[in-house]
Parts: sequence; structure tokens; C-alpha cells
Amino acid sequence: MGLYSVMREEAHILNEAKDAKKILIISCPGCACESLSYEEDLPNRLLEQGKDMDASAVAVNIIRTQWVNKLEGLGYQVDYISVVFPCEMFDTDREEILKAIPGRDTVMILACGSAYIGIRDILKDYQGKIIPMMQTKGSFVFRLVKDGTGKHSKVERESARINRFSKAKEGE
Ligand code: SF4
Repeated sequence: MGLYSVMREEAHILNEAKDAKKILIISCPGCACESLSYEEDLPNRLLEQGKDMDASAVAVNIIRTQWVNKLEGLGYQVDYISVVFPCEMFDTDREEILKAIPGRDTVMILACGSAYIGIRDILKDYQGKIIPMMQTKGSFVFRLVKDGTGKHSKVERESARINRFSKAKEGE
């Protein structure tokens, strides 16, 4: 079971970032990837990468690249890091995030609500803005199959089970 998260409205994210200059996107290659594969109809994971979560996370990396290009096109300076499972971090993950923060006035979280809370807790002394890019709407059980290329997994739509939280609000 994973957390089912969808992208927040683009206009809302951009509005919250309107005063930003230097943005750091922190993405998670975990169940945010399956969520985006399902929601945005993207390839899920590169099968040849096996259990290497970061390298295999095609869907989340596609969306991250789209956002980097979009934000750079709007004149923002953008960098990103990938943190494997911000919902259950080692101290080394926390240090990686803290090391990436100096000089950034805005942090965007491309992951679920648990990632947002976990990262926000680490950055409790941070003066900049922390913007969730995804909204967690429930939990999922997905069956993964190979896509047409045979190189990627994808979510089988017909058997997808999503258990929706009844009162999920944008930004949670
Ligand atoms: S941080 Fe969220 S998206 Fe990433 S693995 Fe954990 S529950 Fe899934």
C-alpha cells in the first residue's frame, strides 16, 4: 500500500511561489512515483534499474523536469534533490536536505503530505517558504505491469484500488 497523491493546481503552486527567486525542489521516488504514473498516465519505473528507487523513478522525474523547465522559463533559479522516503528518513537524509537549503528562499515538495510534514519539521528554523506540490488524497493498492516498450512498469488501471480519504483538502 502507498499514499495516493495528485498534483495540486498549477496556478496555486505558482501563486505561492510568486515571490521566490531561488527554488529547491525536493522529490521522493517512492509512492509519489506510482501516484503520478497513474494520475498523469506516465511510465512508472525503469525496470532495468531494479531496486534503485532514485534511478528508476521515471514518472516523478518526468514531472520534476517539467516543473524545473517551467519555473526556469518564468525566470526562477531552480535546483532539485531526490530524497528516498522523506516519510522515514535517516539522519544522513536530513543532513542532505539541510546542506541543500542555504541560498534558497523557497522549497517545493514533490511528494506526499508525509514528506511535506517531515521536511517542514527539519526546516523549522528556515525563514523561506515551503510549498507542497502534491495533495495526498488516500492510499492505493496497484498492480504493476510492463508497458508497451517492455522497459517500464506501469500501473494497471483496471485493477487499481484507491481508498480515498474523505476530507482531503488541497495542501494537506
Ligand atoms: S515520502 Fe510519501 S511519497 Fe515518498 S515513499 Fe513516503 S509515503 Fe510515499
